[in-house]
Amino acid sequence: MGALPPRYSFVLNPYVRERFTKCPSCEAATRVRKLPLVVHVEHASGPRLVLLNKTCRLCLMCETLIVDRYELEREIVAAGLTTTGRPPDYVVLGTIDRRSAARGSFETLGRHLRTAIMTYRRVVELVDSTARRHV
Ligand SMILES: [Zn+2]
Repeated sequence: MGALPPRYSFVLNPYVRERFTKCPSCEAATRVRKLPLVVHVEHASGPRLVLLNKTCRLCLMCETLIVDRYELEREIVAAGLTTTGRPPDYVVLGTIDRRSAARGSFETLGRHLRTAIMTYRRVVELVDSTARRHV
């Protein structure tokens, strides 16, 4: 989809009590970073793309990006992207570079999206054993 090379392995963290202060892939310590996520959201009046500035955990060693699923869904609901009060269906498509994000809201960015988006190199499915130690 994007013109930029894919970046980051992406992990959507479904575990409320797992903070991933260590990377699930390489065990290096992760850093807290605020990154603009491009999210495709199903909406009653049609699907839409939104940009959410989300505090994530990032492993600088292997470029794994970890996003807390419940926090993300709470922000999607808070942004008024659902009519039911529950999280809609959504897919996190990628990240955009900070300079493009600074240009403003997603509406104004729309035209530039194809050149600005960095899709994920891979999406990591967490196996139970990764998080079980904290549950
Ligand atoms: Zn790592």
